[in-house]
Amino acid sequence: MDYQKIIDDLYLTYKNVDDKGKVASYIPELKKVSSNKFGINLFTLNNQSYGAGNYQEKLSIQSISKVFALTLALKKVGKKIWKRVGVEPSGDPFNSLVQLEFEKGIPRNPFINSGALVVCDVLISSLKNPKSEFLNFVRKLTNSKDIYFNEKVVASEKKHGFVNAAHVNLMKSFKNIKNEIDVVLDLYYYMCSIEMTCEELSKSFLIFANDGVLPYNKERIISLSVSKRINATMQLCGLYDEAGHFAFKVGLPGKSGVGGGIVAILPDLYCITTWSPKLNKKGNSYLGFKVLEEFTTITQSSIF
Ligand code: GLN
Repeated sequence: MDYQKIIDDLYLTYKNVDDKGKVASYIPELKKVSSNKFGINLFTLNNQSYGAGNYQEKLSIQSISKVFALTLALKKVGKKIWKRVGVEPSGDPFNSLVQLEFEKGIPRNPFINSGALVVCDVLISSLKNPKSEFLNFVRKLTNSKDIYFNEKVVASEKKHGFVNAAHVNLMKSFKNIKNEIDVVLDLYYYMCSIEMTCEELSKSFLIFANDGVLPYNKERIISLSVSKRINATMQLCGLYDEAGHFAFKVGLPGKSGVGGGIVAILPDLYCITTWSPKLNKKGNSYLGFKVLEEFTTITQSSIF
């Protein structure tokens, strides 16, 4: 399969498509990113990288970080985390508060905001230096030290994060948050502010295509069973209330963020990452979704 040609062709075709999406503006700092950034990267388990466009430029990974957080939390505390967060699709937007009251402060899954906030709470209780240990974990998965938080994005989210604060407060009232509210929000915002390139994101997700083992040094990070479960959770919840559509059209486990990145995995073969900041109504990259759909159609790849 000539992956480079397929990616180049997709890049050229979609670069000029009428993009109906809108850049996330509820975090003012994200609005500053040029809306026509567009990158695609495919990284295979045998260490081949194929890219087009802005695939080596940093983007705000936002909710893609929720997968790293869940992975680290499962490593630290194991399956007891599932007492505090579920694994069902929410069918609601990523920042919806609606279910949380009905379900007594137990978020539907770890990839909506409330779920990720509980995971942050778990990390704070189980790590000595949560921020630096989290960043180092992401660096290790990627095999790169050149990965940092963006303080401006953190400040922007803190200033405008009224709904996230509402989530933590509500969960605290149900006793599903153990640490101080501001401390939990702080780690959450730092996590979301991490900047990585499409290529780095693809590399960092390879463990989920490789049964939990880092391909570059063969170190096992999580068990096969945990890796399978993280992929299952991505498949069902990674694109929020568009996860069904993503399974239907793309056919791979994936995770999106409001910075416009989407990472998807084909177990035993590759990770693919797209970046285009304009989002559809569900908060997922408009072009990224289309490119991934087309890519899996052309390459006939799917987990189904
Ligand atoms: N930091 C964003 C928020 O809390 C993450 C949302 C996302 O990427 N879907 O709203």
